[in-house]
Amino acid sequence: MQPRIDRVRERLAGHGCDAFISMTPPVNQYLSGFRGTTSVLLITEQHALFLCDFRYTEQAQDQVSGYDIRELSGRLLVRAGETVAEMGLSRVAFEPQYTTYGEIHALQQGAGDVFVPVDALASKLREVKEPGEIALIREASELAEGVLADLRPFIGEGVQERELAARFEYEFKKRGASGASFDTIALFGARSSLPHGEPGAAALQPEDTVLIDCGCRRAGYCSDLTRTYVFGRMPDVWFQNIYEVTLTAQRNALAAIRPGVTCREVDAAARDVITEAGFGEQFGHGLGHGVGVEVHEAPRLNPQSETLLEAGMVITVEPGVYLPGQGGVRIEDLVAVTSDGCDVLTRTPKELEILVK
Ligand code: ZN
Ligand code: ZN
Repeated sequence: MQPRIDRVRERLAGHGCDAFISMTPPVNQYLSGFRGTTSVLLITEQHALFLCDFRYTEQAQDQVSGYDIRELSGRLLVRAGETVAEMGLSRVAFEPQYTTYGEIHALQQGAGDVFVPVDALASKLREVKEPGEIALIREASELAEGVLADLRPFIGEGVQERELAARFEYEFKKRGASGASFDTIALFGARSSLPHGEPGAAALQPEDTVLIDCGCRRAGYCSDLTRTYVFGRMPDVWFQNIYEVTLTAQRNALAAIRPGVTCREVDAAARDVITEAGFGEQFGHGLGHGVGVEVHEAPRLNPQSETLLEAGMVITVEPGVYLPGQGGVRIEDLVAVTSDGCDVLTRTPKELEILVK
């Protein structure tokens, strides 16, 4: 973890701060290797401290490298604040997008008003993945794809959305994932028009749309995948139409990905296809997002994002068309940006497929 700690120190100097503090599990995992839920990192020019309570000391000794591990008793954040005061630190950066008012209030009880919000001070580093990180994301993606392939026989008449979703999460854990990287989405029929609907008691009927959005977390890294199928019979023309539009948009976006292109331009490569087909209003979310230690992280791909793609970024490409009361389609792949394009990590076919049982 030493190179990541050193890069945080470089960024601290650039922001005129003498320390960085984080209480956020994904950030702390990235910077220390710790995969538990409660810890405080404090990085200064000279020191890298990992602060935790009794519950996590043994786990930290096993997982954390590059830090002086200190077990504190009492309220962890107040004690961490006291440590800040003892070290004489005067401008301690925190990431406001991850930090609650209550956390800062507790730190201030120990240290006074020395905390400074600096957007993505450490998390900016997470946007470009190291080869080892891409390998772990690929493994998480392959695990989830294996589950999707193996669960196909269970997608049969009468199965409930929540029953199918639960099977995914069981299989993820059984195969070595620490769990789902987000609540699995399984939606049938007209309910597939809900981009992030919650699986319920609906039972699968012939000719239903089947939208599955799933991912797992393995060895601390996430995956994300969406496929939309039709069950039992040839779908209506309207469905075939929105499927083809979505797939064309998705492929157009994949072809636009390379270093130096803005996220906005990649979003437009998909969005323009959908808009020209008359469904612009029915694609109401961004094209995709970064994936790493969090399933949704920077960069964001949407019409406003001026972020430039760089080799090593891992992003999703997931256009969708949603017709309320009828149904929706979303097709999502996970890709790693390469020096001249992208490597599509998702291998599951995406031509329109009719599931039969
Ligand atoms: Zn997804
Ligand atoms: Zn996604």
